[in-house]
Parts: sequence; structure tokens; C-alpha cells
Amino acid sequence: MSSTLRFQIVGEAFKKRPVEVPKRKERPSEFFAKYVFNRQKMQQYLPSDVYKKMCDVIDGGAPLDMATADAVAEGMKKWAMELGATHCTHWFQPLTEGTAEKHDGFVVHDGKGGMIEEFTGKQLVQQEPDASSFPSGGIRSTFEARGYSAWDPTSPVFVFGDTLMIPTIFISYTGEALDYKAPLKKSLKAVDKAATAVARYFYPDVKKVVSNLGWEQEYFLVDEGLYAARPDLLMTGRTLLGHDSAKNQQMDDHYFGSIPMRVAAFMKDLEIKSLELGIPCKTRHNEVAPNQFELAPIFEETNLAVDHNMLIMSLMKKVARKHGFRCLLHEKPFAGINGSGKHNNWSLSTDTGILLHGPGKTPLDNLRFVTFIVESLMAVYCHNGLLKASIISATNVHRLGAAEAPPAIVSSFLGKEISDLLEHLETSTDDELISLSGKQTLSLDIPQIPELTQDNTDRNRTSPFAFTGNRFEFRAVGSQQNCAASMIVLNTAMAEALTNFKKRVDALIGEGVEPMKAILRIVREDIKTCKPIRFDGNGYSEAWKQEAARRGLDVETSAPIILDQYLKPETVEMFERMNVLTKAELEARNEIKLDTYIKKIQIEARIFGDICMNHIIPVATRYQTQLIDNVHKMKDIFPAETADRLNSTNLSLIKQMGEHNAFIIENVERLIEARRVANRIKDGRERAIAYHDTVAPLIEEIRYHVDHLELIVDDELWPLPKYREMLFIH
Ligand code: ADP
Ligand code: MG
Repeated sequence: MSSTLRFQIVGEAFKKRPVEVPKRKERPSEFFAKYVFNRQKMQQYLPSDVYKKMCDVIDGGAPLDMATADAVAEGMKKWAMELGATHCTHWFQPLTEGTAEKHDGFVVHDGKGGMIEEFTGKQLVQQEPDASSFPSGGIRSTFEARGYSAWDPTSPVFVFGDTLMIPTIFISYTGEALDYKAPLKKSLKAVDKAATAVARYFYPDVKKVVSNLGWEQEYFLVDEGLYAARPDLLMTGRTLLGHDSAKNQQMDDHYFGSIPMRVAAFMKDLEIKSLELGIPCKTRHNEVAPNQFELAPIFEETNLAVDHNMLIMSLMKKVARKHGFRCLLHEKPFAGINGSGKHNNWSLSTDTGILLHGPGKTPLDNLRFVTFIVESLMAVYCHNGLLKASIISATNVHRLGAAEAPPAIVSSFLGKEISDLLEHLETSTDDELISLSGKQTLSLDIPQIPELTQDNTDRNRTSPFAFTGNRFEFRAVGSQQNCAASMIVLNTAMAEALTNFKKRVDALIGEGVEPMKAILRIVREDIKTCKPIRFDGNGYSEAWKQEAARRGLDVETSAPIILDQYLKPETVEMFERMNVLTKAELEARNEIKLDTYIKKIQIEARIFGDICMNHIIPVATRYQTQLIDNVHKMKDIFPAETADRLNSTNLSLIKQMGEHNAFIIENVERLIEARRVANRIKDGRERAIAYHDTVAPLIEEIRYHVDHLELIVDDELWPLPKYREMLFIH
């Protein structure tokens, strides 16, 4: 690309006005879930006995017979066709981190030379997509390529465009999970069972415990013209080079700032479409980095929340294009400014309330609150390394540990009040009742401003797992990740912690200890055990890294080694005992994660080498030659002494460029060689380690020189849009 083209693209981007801000006459409450076959639609489109059966299937996990499935499919088809649907697809979440779909038309021959629309129970319930092109980590050998997708009736079907989308799990012919949803659902079942049993100590009528998830999705928007002119963004989702813009986020003027018009139009459009699809969008705002934004819905049951997050990620990309943007979900699209995460707000609730909500009015409520807080901490403490493994990736590593995102050590922040409470309990006696005031009010003494209720928690942005009032917020999740990966670990670990808790409490009760005292005793024991996970200080500090290591927390920073956590005996034991994943499935997942890690860095290294040699070196050399030419001509017109004096700065630049060029060329060669060496390594883990140790750091080393060239080379020659152009135009 010539630089004139770059200026043209920048000019175009700058001129773009918002495409019309979409408007709807109806209120959001009126068009919410318009395209979702929810209970209301079920009631309307299904015979009443079928509707009742479906409710039993959804709520109580009753088996689904084929006659019911056929009747449901008939109602769905009618509803979907009224909305213009012509196709249907099973929609699943393979281990690629995206979603997969294969559309089939409703049409079939009618036997009289014409066509009719048909959609059967069998099509709804089960399909057999060819599994051979999806990652399986060796579970499915190529000769048995069959995989099954099976309907998940707890996540309602919806119409997207002209297609009826059916959320499904995806498993191999031999029954192993090839996706995120199947183990997620098992982990939710496990935590329901374990938490219900414990909740009954306090509230004997509890029937079910639900895991909730409220994700906050961060993202960047970049003008699509500028995006298209950056091969690195196009291929990898992040910029592999680019010097810092003079102004970036140092003025703190973007966060919560007024939303730019063109972005506001995008957000509105996205919100309308999301609401129509039943995603309860609530919050939108500018984030810390320029051109960075956030979107958050109201929390939902975890399985549904995960589906909605997967759906909205693909929707965001589509809607962005309509507005002339590209939506970047990469965890670190730009160096030097904040990356994007996806905070996962997690809690457990019964039909009567949230179990992490408290402190309550009665001592019983308070003990329930403390029990669930402490067992959450036990879960995170016992599997802190695994929790980190669930969010580690080649892309999220650029964000973790930088002083903008949670550190690469999982710890938990509780805030002073709850910490004090646990300290108190740790040393209290059996007979002491837990007395804890409810919310306190904060008198501000500013005229016209009402009293505020003071939350029982303060905030600590540096903590990866912070308690925020009635939930824990897991902040280490990457912006483009499937939330299910970490939710599987968290819910399974919680199920294990609660199961262990109950076993010990019941043993004491069996010995004749009064139940509440038994609970208090075990809680006290666990407060001591999981103490190392509690950390209210600055998670970014160097001192914490050392302190965390002393406490025995996982402080590993190399992604391929972090992934070993999936194979640790205590991990396998937990997943098998809780009936969520088998050893073979865990091995497969580990293998896929390593493979994905390798491929991501491999692609980065390839495109980076290409950009260096074909875009950067040619223009740097051209500019260098212009300067050399100038040096010679100066000699022609000035006496030698004057020419030498005036040429000295140019000579210095020529030399600097020569050094940078030489470094880049030599090291791109080394980068190719490092890949070659790594690729020859048979063992996947060893190969990933080689990519981590030798390939990835070289990219950063070379980048330093490219970014310095950007500061020297004539702006008119520079081929790639610069940070200041990509980040401040909307
Ligand atoms: P923050 O101040 O952390 O940025 P936001 O309002 O952006 O908060 O997002 C908070 C998210 O947490 C929302 O999705 C909200 O619905 C969710 N949330 C609130 N309470 C709970 C809860 N008990 N369990 C799970 N998620 C919750
Ligand atoms: Mg938050």
C-alpha cells in the first residue's frame, strides 16, 4: 500500500458520519425476546399437554419422548416461519472458542413434484455433523468421524436472520464431550446437587440451586478501512507493531466519557438486536482505553448467560460491519494501552434468594452467608492454578499480569468488613453467635444529596476474584473467550468444596454435635485452610508475587506450563468425582489448548515476518536512500566543512536506520529458524514451550526496532495506519 492510500483511508474514516441511529417505536419491554421461543411462545404455539411436558423437561430434567419432540417441532416451525425462517441449524460451541452451525432448509419434496416445509422432532433433537474438522484432541480418530449434536432444551431456540437456531451440546460417537456446553451443564448439575444439600441446613425447603453469571464484555471498535489496511489486525486480531500514540489513555478522559455519535449508533443497533434475541442488555459505557467500550446485560442462569455471550460476540462483529467498524474482541489489540477482559460475575441462588447475599437479619442467614463465602474461597484456593489455566491463552497472556488487568496469580479480595468477620470467626468459640449489622448508611452532609447506603464491600480493581456485595467477580477471563471454560472449573470446584464440607459437617452431627455448631466448626476449619487465597492488597506489586509463592499459590506465568493444571491428579479427581469430565476428556482439552496456543503464535510470527520484510524494510530503506542522496547533494553545494557539519544529523539517522534494519532482517531470519526448530518437536507440550520461550519473545524484540523506525521514517512513506489514526477516529 502506498502512503497516499493510507492518507485516503484515514481521510475516509474521519469523514464517516454515523449511519442513522436506529429507532424503535415500541419500548424494549415490548420487543424483548421477539425472536425467542420462550415459555410465552411455547404456551401460544404448543398444545397445552405438550407445553406442560416441556416445562417438566426444562425445570425437572424429565426425559423427552419422540412424540413430544415432534409436537414441539411442529409448533416451533409454525412460529419460526411466521418470522420468515426458512432454515434451521444446530448451534454448538466446539473447542475452537467460536460457535458452529450448518443450516438445513425446511423444504422437502411433497411427492407430487412440489415442495413443502417440514421440521421434525428428530431434526430438533439430534443431528450428526461431521466432527472430523473440529478439534477433538485425539478423542475422535478420523475413521470414526461421527459426532452428535443434541438439543439443550434449557436454552430456548431463537430465530436469527432466516434461520431457526437450536442450542445444542456436541459429543463424539463414543459419548465424550467435544464442546463447552456438555461439561458446563454437568458442572451446573453438580453444583446444584452439592449446594442444595448444604442450603438445606439453613432452609429445609430448598429444591434447587442455580448458578448465575453476569458477564461484562469489553471491546474495541476500529474503522473498517483502517482495519483492512493492517494485515496484523486482519490475521491475528491485534497489532503486532505500532508506536505508542503521543496521547493515549493518560488523561483518563475516555472512561465513562460521552459516547461518540457513531459508536452510540452502533450500540443502539446492537442493543435492539440483542434485546430482540432475549439478551437482557443493560449497561454500556466507554472503557479506559481510547476506542474501548463495554457492554453488560443483567445476569442470568449460567448456561443461558454463556449462550447469550457467544451469541452477542458474533452479533457485535456483524453489527459493527454495518456501521463501518470492525469490532475487536482480542484481549490486547494495542500495546501500551489497556486490553479487554470479560468480568464474570458469579453467584449461586435458590428460588428464594442469592446464597452469597448477606449479611442477613438472622444468625441463621449470617451463617449461611459465611458458609457459602468460605466454601467459594475453598474452591478457589484448592484449584487456583486450574482456574488460571481455564482463562490462559496465547492472547489473554498479553493482558494478564500487566498493571491493568488481574495479575497472573489467582487470589480473592473480600473487603474489610467480610475479612474482619472471618478473622473474628476464626478465633470465636462455638457458642458465640454471629452478630453482624446490615448495611450501614453513609451520611454525606452535602445539601440536596440523599443518604447513600454503604455497601459492605469496597472495591479492589487489582483482584482477580473479588467479592462485590452478593457475588464474586472473576476478572481474569479474556474478552474473546467462551465464559464456559472458567465457569466449568468454578462450579465444579464449588461442588467439590460443598460436598467435602457437607461430609465433614454430617460426620460431626453423627457424633451428636448440634448442626449449627457443627457447621460453625467446619467453617472455622476452612477459614484457616483457605487463608492463603485471601489477599486485599495491591495485586500488581512485586512484593505480592513473592508473598503468593510463599503462600503456595500458583505463580507460574508460562502459558503452556499453566495448562498442565488440567492434568494434575487433584484436577482429574475433582472432575471425575463430580462427574463433569473424564481423564480422557481432560487430556483432550489440554492437547487442544496447547495446539491452539501454538497455532496462534505461529500465525503471528508468520504475518509479522511478512510485514517486516515486505512493508517495513522496503520503506525504511527507501527513506534511508533519500537521506543518503541528500548527504551527497549537500556536499555538492557546500564547502566540505559546512557539509560535514550539516550532514551529521542525517548521517546519524542513516546509521540508526541501518542498525534497525539490520536487526530486523537478521532476527526475522532467526524467527523463521525458531519456528522451524519448534515445529520439528513431536511432543505438543514441548512444542508449545518452544513457541513460548523462543518464538513469542522474538516478535517483541523485533517489534521494538520496527516501532523505532516508525518514529524516524517520513510519515508520507509509512504504509500502515498508525496508533493515533486507529484509536482516535470514530
Ligand atoms: P461493575 O460495577 O462491576 O462494572 P456492571 O453493572 O457493569 O458492574 O456489571 C455487573 C454485572 O454483574 C451485571 O451483569 C449484573 O447483572 C451482574 N450481577 C449483579 N448481581 C449478580 C449476582 N448476584 N450474580 C451474578 N451476577 C450479578
Ligand atoms: Mg464489574
